[in-house]
Amino acid sequence: MSENMKPGSMERYRVPPHTQVQLSQWDPRDGSAFPGKKQDAKALFRDLNTRLETLQELLYAENKHKLLIVLQGMDTAGKDGVIRHVFEGVNPQGVKVASFKVPTAQELAHDYLWRVHRHTPGRGEIVIFNRSHYEDVLVVRVHELAPPEVWGRRYEHINAFEKLLTDEGSTILKFYLHIDKAAQKNRLQARLDEPLKRWKFNRGDLKERKLWPDYLAAYEGVLSRTSTEAAPWYIVPANRKWYRNLVIATVVVETLEGLAMSYPDPEAALDDVVIV
Ligand code: AMP
Ligand code: MG
Repeated sequence: MSENMKPGSMERYRVPPHTQVQLSQWDPRDGSAFPGKKQDAKALFRDLNTRLETLQELLYAENKHKLLIVLQGMDTAGKDGVIRHVFEGVNPQGVKVASFKVPTAQELAHDYLWRVHRHTPGRGEIVIFNRSHYEDVLVVRVHELAPPEVWGRRYEHINAFEKLLTDEGSTILKFYLHIDKAAQKNRLQARLDEPLKRWKFNRGDLKERKLWPDYLAAYEGVLSRTSTEAAPWYIVPANRKWYRNLVIATVVVETLEGLAMSYPDPEAALDDVVIV
Protein backbone atom coordinates (compact mmCIF):
# COMPACT_ATOMS: atom_id res chain seq x y z
CA MET A 1 0.00 0.00 0.00
CA SER A 2 1.45 3.36 -0.93
CA GLU A 3 2.36 5.68 1.90
CA ASN A 4 -0.13 8.40 1.01
CA MET A 5 -3.01 5.92 1.15
CA LYS A 6 -2.36 5.15 4.80
CA PRO A 7 -4.88 6.72 7.13
CA GLY A 8 -3.73 9.63 9.25
CA SER A 9 -3.88 9.51 13.01
CA MET A 10 -7.29 8.90 14.53
CA GLU A 11 -6.28 11.12 17.45
CA ARG A 12 -8.22 13.89 15.75
CA TYR A 13 -11.50 12.15 16.53
CA ARG A 14 -10.73 11.38 20.14
CA VAL A 15 -12.29 13.67 22.73
CA PRO A 16 -9.71 14.72 25.34
CA PRO A 17 -10.97 14.54 28.93
CA HIS A 18 -12.77 17.66 30.16
CA THR A 19 -13.45 19.04 26.69
CA GLN A 20 -16.64 21.04 26.24
CA VAL A 21 -17.95 19.38 23.09
CA GLN A 22 -20.10 21.32 20.65
CA LEU A 23 -21.20 18.97 17.93
CA SER A 24 -21.80 21.82 15.48
CA GLN A 25 -18.01 22.10 15.36
CA TRP A 26 -17.54 18.48 14.30
CA ASP A 27 -18.11 17.79 10.63
CA PRO A 28 -20.05 14.58 9.97
CA ARG A 29 -18.59 14.56 6.45
CA ASP A 30 -15.01 15.08 7.54
CA GLY A 31 -12.58 13.00 5.53
CA SER A 32 -9.28 14.42 6.67
CA ALA A 33 -7.79 11.19 7.99
CA PHE A 34 -8.03 9.54 4.62
CA PRO A 35 -7.74 11.71 1.53
CA GLY A 36 -8.74 8.96 -0.91
CA LYS A 37 -12.15 8.09 -2.29
CA LYS A 38 -14.48 5.23 -1.41
CA GLN A 39 -12.92 3.10 -4.12
CA ASP A 40 -9.41 3.63 -2.74
CA ALA A 41 -10.55 2.74 0.76
CA LYS A 42 -11.56 -0.80 -0.19
CA ALA A 43 -8.09 -2.32 -0.10
CA LEU A 44 -7.31 -0.49 3.09
CA PHE A 45 -10.47 -1.73 4.73
CA ARG A 46 -9.84 -5.31 3.64
CA ASP A 47 -6.38 -5.11 5.14
CA LEU A 48 -7.77 -3.80 8.44
CA ASN A 49 -10.36 -6.53 8.45
CA THR A 50 -7.75 -9.23 8.03
CA ARG A 51 -5.59 -7.72 10.75
CA LEU A 52 -8.61 -7.60 13.05
CA GLU A 53 -9.32 -11.30 12.45
CA THR A 54 -5.77 -12.19 13.45
CA LEU A 55 -5.75 -9.87 16.45
CA GLN A 56 -9.04 -11.24 17.70
CA GLU A 57 -7.69 -14.79 17.50
CA LEU A 58 -4.65 -13.68 19.43
CA LEU A 59 -6.81 -11.97 22.06
CA TYR A 60 -8.82 -15.15 22.41
CA ALA A 61 -5.75 -17.39 22.55
CA GLU A 62 -3.90 -15.25 25.04
CA ASN A 63 -7.01 -15.13 27.23
CA LYS A 64 -5.83 -12.07 29.12
CA HIS A 65 -7.27 -8.84 27.78
CA LYS A 66 -10.92 -7.82 27.51
CA LEU A 67 -12.17 -5.32 24.96
CA LEU A 68 -15.41 -3.39 25.30
CA ILE A 69 -16.62 -1.33 22.37
CA VAL A 70 -19.54 1.03 22.91
CA LEU A 71 -21.55 2.22 19.91
CA GLN A 72 -23.91 5.15 20.27
CA GLY A 73 -25.56 7.48 17.79
CA MET A 74 -28.89 8.80 16.60
CA ASP A 75 -31.30 6.44 14.85
CA THR A 76 -29.84 5.39 11.47
CA ALA A 77 -26.35 6.55 12.48
CA GLY A 78 -25.03 3.11 11.54
CA LYS A 79 -24.53 1.09 14.70
CA ASP A 80 -25.74 -2.11 13.05
CA GLY A 81 -23.71 -1.40 9.94
CA VAL A 82 -20.52 -1.03 11.94
CA ILE A 83 -21.11 -4.37 13.62
CA ARG A 84 -21.76 -6.04 10.28
CA HIS A 85 -18.87 -4.56 8.37
CA VAL A 86 -16.07 -3.85 10.82
CA PHE A 87 -16.37 -7.24 12.51
CA GLU A 88 -17.04 -9.21 9.36
CA GLY A 89 -15.03 -12.40 9.39
CA VAL A 90 -14.03 -12.44 13.05
CA ASN A 91 -14.59 -15.68 14.90
CA PRO A 92 -18.02 -15.44 16.55
CA GLN A 93 -16.75 -17.48 19.48
CA GLY A 94 -14.77 -14.61 20.85
CA VAL A 95 -17.00 -11.68 19.92
CA LYS A 96 -20.37 -10.91 21.43
CA VAL A 97 -22.89 -8.19 20.75
CA ALA A 98 -25.15 -6.85 23.48
CA SER A 99 -28.04 -4.69 22.28
CA PHE A 100 -29.75 -2.57 24.88
CA LYS A 101 -33.44 -1.97 24.33
CA VAL A 102 -36.16 -0.40 26.44
CA PRO A 103 -35.54 -1.90 29.88
CA THR A 104 -37.81 -4.72 31.03
CA ALA A 105 -39.76 -4.50 34.28
CA GLN A 106 -37.13 -6.62 35.97
CA GLU A 107 -34.33 -4.40 34.69
CA LEU A 108 -36.18 -1.30 35.82
CA ALA A 109 -36.52 -2.78 39.27
CA HIS A 110 -32.71 -2.57 39.59
CA ASP A 111 -30.16 0.19 39.20
CA TYR A 112 -29.49 1.06 35.56
CA LEU A 113 -26.03 -0.52 35.49
CA TRP A 114 -27.32 -3.88 36.67
CA ARG A 115 -28.26 -5.12 33.23
CA VAL A 116 -25.10 -3.74 31.71
CA HIS A 117 -22.42 -5.20 33.94
CA ARG A 118 -23.26 -8.80 33.18
CA HIS A 119 -22.60 -8.24 29.49
CA THR A 120 -19.10 -6.78 29.92
CA PRO A 121 -16.33 -8.86 28.35
CA GLY A 122 -14.50 -11.66 30.09
CA ARG A 123 -10.86 -12.44 29.43
CA GLY A 124 -10.12 -13.05 25.77
CA GLU A 125 -13.43 -11.57 24.68
CA ILE A 126 -14.55 -8.62 22.62
CA VAL A 127 -18.01 -7.30 23.44
CA ILE A 128 -19.76 -4.70 21.34
CA PHE A 129 -22.48 -2.68 22.99
CA ASN A 130 -25.17 -1.65 20.51
CA ARG A 131 -26.49 1.21 22.67
CA SER A 132 -25.43 1.02 26.28
CA HIS A 133 -25.65 2.48 29.76
CA TYR A 134 -25.39 5.85 28.00
CA GLU A 135 -29.07 5.56 27.08
CA ASP A 136 -29.68 6.29 30.75
CA VAL A 137 -28.40 9.84 30.24
CA LEU A 138 -29.69 10.16 26.66
CA VAL A 139 -33.21 8.87 26.02
CA VAL A 140 -33.90 9.11 29.75
CA ARG A 141 -32.90 12.78 29.77
CA VAL A 142 -34.64 13.70 26.51
CA HIS A 143 -37.91 11.99 27.47
CA GLU A 144 -37.69 12.95 31.12
CA LEU A 145 -37.97 9.33 32.18
CA ALA A 146 -36.14 10.37 35.32
CA PRO A 147 -35.79 13.83 36.90
CA PRO A 148 -32.60 15.84 36.26
CA GLU A 149 -31.24 15.19 39.73
CA VAL A 150 -31.42 11.46 39.04
CA TRP A 151 -29.85 11.35 35.57
CA GLY A 152 -27.51 14.20 36.49
CA ARG A 153 -25.70 12.01 38.98
CA ARG A 154 -25.16 9.30 36.45
CA TYR A 155 -22.16 10.73 34.61
CA GLU A 156 -20.17 10.27 37.76
CA HIS A 157 -21.47 6.71 38.24
CA ILE A 158 -20.63 5.90 34.65
CA ASN A 159 -17.09 7.23 34.92
CA ALA A 160 -16.59 5.24 38.11
CA PHE A 161 -18.09 2.10 36.55
CA GLU A 162 -15.84 2.34 33.51
CA LYS A 163 -12.84 3.00 35.78
CA LEU A 164 -13.67 -0.19 37.63
CA LEU A 165 -13.71 -2.09 34.35
CA THR A 166 -10.44 -0.65 33.08
CA ASP A 167 -8.72 -1.07 36.47
CA GLU A 168 -9.70 -4.72 36.29
CA GLY A 169 -8.16 -5.24 32.89
CA SER A 170 -10.68 -4.08 30.29
CA THR A 171 -9.90 -1.80 27.42
CA ILE A 172 -12.82 0.46 26.53
CA LEU A 173 -13.44 2.28 23.25
CA LYS A 174 -16.53 4.42 22.77
CA PHE A 175 -17.73 5.62 19.40
CA TYR A 176 -20.32 8.30 18.78
CA LEU A 177 -21.46 7.91 15.17
CA HIS A 178 -21.95 11.49 14.08
CA ILE A 179 -24.47 12.07 11.27
CA ASP A 180 -26.43 15.17 10.39
CA LYS A 181 -30.17 15.50 10.11
CA ALA A 182 -30.13 15.40 6.32
CA ALA A 183 -28.29 12.08 6.34
CA GLN A 184 -30.88 10.69 8.73
CA LYS A 185 -33.66 11.84 6.42
CA ASN A 186 -32.10 9.98 3.49
CA ARG A 187 -31.64 6.83 5.51
CA LEU A 188 -35.17 6.85 6.91
CA GLN A 189 -36.45 7.43 3.38
CA ALA A 190 -34.40 4.46 2.17
CA ARG A 191 -36.04 2.30 4.82
CA LEU A 192 -39.42 3.26 3.39
CA ASP A 193 -38.41 2.85 -0.23
CA GLU A 194 -36.40 -0.36 -0.16
CA PRO A 195 -38.52 -3.45 0.51
CA LEU A 196 -35.68 -5.25 2.27
CA LYS A 197 -35.14 -2.34 4.63
CA ARG A 198 -38.78 -1.72 5.49
CA TRP A 199 -38.70 -3.94 8.54
CA LYS A 200 -36.33 -1.43 10.07
CA PHE A 201 -38.72 1.47 9.64
CA ASN A 202 -40.24 2.49 12.87
CA ARG A 203 -42.74 5.33 13.22
CA GLY A 204 -41.25 6.02 16.61
CA ASP A 205 -38.05 7.11 14.88
CA LEU A 206 -39.96 10.08 13.39
CA LYS A 207 -40.92 11.20 16.87
CA GLU A 208 -37.33 10.94 17.97
CA ARG A 209 -36.24 12.89 14.90
CA LYS A 210 -38.33 15.83 16.08
CA LEU A 211 -36.26 15.82 19.25
CA TRP A 212 -32.99 16.12 17.32
CA PRO A 213 -31.78 19.26 19.17
CA ASP A 214 -32.53 17.66 22.54
CA TYR A 215 -30.59 14.55 21.61
CA LEU A 216 -27.70 16.69 20.38
CA ALA A 217 -27.61 18.48 23.73
CA ALA A 218 -27.77 15.17 25.57
CA TYR A 219 -24.93 13.77 23.45
CA GLU A 220 -22.87 16.90 24.06
CA GLY A 221 -23.34 16.28 27.78
CA VAL A 222 -22.13 12.70 27.42
CA LEU A 223 -19.13 13.55 25.26
CA SER A 224 -18.12 16.46 27.48
CA ARG A 225 -18.40 14.62 30.75
CA THR A 226 -17.51 10.98 30.13
CA SER A 227 -14.52 10.95 27.82
CA THR A 228 -11.67 9.83 30.04
CA GLU A 229 -8.09 8.79 29.49
CA ALA A 230 -8.99 5.15 30.12
CA ALA A 231 -12.32 5.12 28.30
CA PRO A 232 -12.23 7.74 25.56
CA TRP A 233 -14.98 8.79 23.21
CA TYR A 234 -14.33 9.09 19.50
CA ILE A 235 -16.61 11.31 17.44
CA VAL A 236 -16.76 9.44 14.15
CA PRO A 237 -17.76 11.30 11.00
CA ALA A 238 -20.53 8.95 9.91
CA ASN A 239 -22.37 10.56 7.02
CA ARG A 240 -20.31 8.38 4.70
CA LYS A 241 -20.52 4.77 5.75
CA TRP A 242 -17.22 3.64 4.26
CA TYR A 243 -15.37 6.43 6.06
CA ARG A 244 -17.09 5.65 9.35
CA ASN A 245 -16.11 1.98 9.02
CA LEU A 246 -12.54 2.88 8.16
CA VAL A 247 -12.17 5.13 11.19
CA ILE A 248 -13.59 2.59 13.62
CA ALA A 249 -11.66 -0.34 12.16
CA THR A 250 -8.45 1.67 12.37
CA VAL A 251 -8.99 2.63 16.01
CA VAL A 252 -9.89 -0.93 17.01
CA VAL A 253 -6.94 -2.49 15.16
CA GLU A 254 -4.44 0.06 16.49
CA THR A 255 -5.75 -0.38 20.02
CA LEU A 256 -5.42 -4.16 19.83
CA GLU A 257 -1.95 -3.86 18.33
CA GLY A 258 -1.03 -1.60 21.25
CA LEU A 259 -1.80 -4.39 23.72
CA ALA A 260 1.37 -6.21 22.63
CA MET A 261 -0.26 -9.61 22.90
CA SER A 262 1.45 -12.92 22.29
CA TYR A 263 0.33 -16.49 21.80
CA PRO A 264 0.67 -18.64 24.90
CA ASP A 265 3.73 -20.89 24.95
CA PRO A 266 2.92 -24.31 23.57
CA GLU A 267 3.53 -27.33 25.75
CA ALA A 268 7.20 -28.28 25.96
CA ALA A 269 8.90 -30.78 23.64
CA LEU A 270 6.13 -31.03 21.07
CA ASP A 271 8.67 -31.90 18.39
CA ASP A 272 8.83 -35.43 19.74
CA VAL A 273 5.10 -35.98 19.59
CA VAL A 274 4.05 -38.69 17.18
CA ILE A 275 0.38 -39.02 16.38
CA VAL A 276 -0.52 -42.61 15.60
P1 AMP B 1 -33.08 -0.05 18.51
O1 AMP B 1 -31.66 0.20 18.91
O2 AMP B 1 -33.46 0.65 17.24
O3 AMP B 1 -33.44 -1.48 18.51
O4 AMP B 1 -34.02 0.64 19.62
C1 AMP B 1 -33.87 0.38 20.96
C2 AMP B 1 -34.68 1.42 21.70
O5 AMP B 1 -34.52 1.18 23.10
C3 AMP B 1 -34.25 2.84 21.44
O6 AMP B 1 -35.35 3.64 21.15
C4 AMP B 1 -33.61 3.25 22.76
O7 AMP B 1 -33.74 4.62 23.03
C5 AMP B 1 -34.38 2.40 23.75
N1 AMP B 1 -33.63 2.25 24.99
C6 AMP B 1 -32.42 1.67 25.16
N2 AMP B 1 -32.01 1.78 26.43
C7 AMP B 1 -32.97 2.45 27.09
C8 AMP B 1 -33.14 2.88 28.44
N3 AMP B 1 -32.20 2.64 29.36
N4 AMP B 1 -34.27 3.54 28.76
C9 AMP B 1 -35.21 3.77 27.82
N5 AMP B 1 -35.13 3.40 26.54
C10 AMP B 1 -34.02 2.74 26.17
MG1 MG C 1 -33.98 1.94 15.77
